[in-house]
Amino acid sequence: MKRYCEECKKEVETTIVTKKESYNVCGEMIDVNAQVLVCAECGEELFSEELDNATLINAYNEYRRRHKLLLPEEIKEIRQQYGLSQRGFSKLLNWGDKTICRYENGSLQDRAHNSLLIFLKNPENMRSYLTENEIDIDEKQKTKLLDIVERLEQNLEYRENRKFFDEFFSETPCEENGFKGFDYEKLCAMVLFFANKSTELLKTKLMKLLNYSDMIFYKENGISISGLRYAHLPYGPVPENFDMLFGRMAADHLAHIEVAYDNGYEKHQVIPECDMPKGVLSDEEKDVLERIYLKFKDFGSVDISNYSHKEKGYIATKQGEIISYSYAKDICLN
Ligand SMILES: [Zn+2]
Repeated sequence: MKRYCEECKKEVETTIVTKKESYNVCGEMIDVNAQVLVCAECGEELFSEELDNATLINAYNEYRRRHKLLLPEEIKEIRQQYGLSQRGFSKLLNWGDKTICRYENGSLQDRAHNSLLIFLKNPENMRSYLTENEIDIDEKQKTKLLDIVERLEQNLEYRENRKFFDEFFSETPCEENGFKGFDYEKLCAMVLFFANKSTELLKTKLMKLLNYSDMIFYKENGISISGLRYAHLPYGPVPENFDMLFGRMAADHLAHIEVAYDNGYEKHQVIPECDMPKGVLSDEEKDVLERIYLKFKDFGSVDISNYSHKEKGYIATKQGEIISYSYAKDICLN
C-alpha cells in the first residue's frame, strides 16, 4: 500500500516491521510485539490506525492474561450461551446499561465484575444466582433463562465444545498465528468462499488456498485473516488441527468432506452446505481471497502442492514444525 512520507516528501511504498513497544496499562508497563508501518525508502514510521489498534488490543490482552481477566470474546461467549442481549445481561447483573457492551468492545473490566462473570459462566452457578438473588427481570424472562440453564446443564456436548474452543481462543497473538487469536467465523467464511466458487474443490487444495490467503493478507496488512497456525507436512503447509475444525464445520452444517473414488484413488471433496455469510470478511480480506482464487484456479491439488514446496517458509522448516508468518514476506504470487 502506498502512503505519503513526511521525510521523503512524496508517495512511497511501505512495509510492516515488528518491534518491541511498552504500553502503560493501569499503571503497569506491558511489553508487546508491535506491528509498525514504515516508509520502505527511509524507514520513517507512518501512522496506521488499524495496526495501532491491534497493538493496543494485544497490550490489553496481555494485561488480562497476567491478571486472569476474561478476554472480550470470552465475555461475549458467556452472555451468548444464555441467549441474552448486552443490555439484558447488564440489567440482570445490576450493572449500568452499557457495561457489557463496553467490555465486549475491549474496555478493561472491573475485578469484581470479572469474578462474577467467571462464576456465572457455569450454568449451575447461574441457576443459583437466578433463584437466590433479587434480580430485576420479569417472571417470563426468568423462566426462559432457567430453561436455557437446564438445557446447558444437560448438554454434555456443551462442555466438550467449550474445552475445544477455549484451547484455540486462549492463544497469544504471535508470529505463528499471524498476530491474531484463532477466528472460527472467519475460517468458515474463507472455506465457504472457495468451496462455493470452485466447481470441484479437494481438501488438499483448500488447505493451500487458506495458507496463501492468510500469508498474503499478513504480508500486506501485518495480521492474518483466520489466526490459524500452519504446520509443515509432506504435501505442503497444513492448518493445525484441521480435521477437528472440519468436523466442527460439518456438525454446524456449514461444509463437509465427501470421499469419492477416481480410478482407484480416494478424492476428498469439500462440499459447501450454505453460501458464504455476509459481513464476516472485510472487503480487503475478500480481495485477497479473490486474487488467490484466480491465481490457482487452474491448478490441481498436485500442482499447487508442488508450487507451495518451493516457498522459503516450507524449505526452511522441518516436518511437523510450524511455519511462521515471518516467511510471508518471501511469498510472491507472480
Ligand atoms: Zn520516507
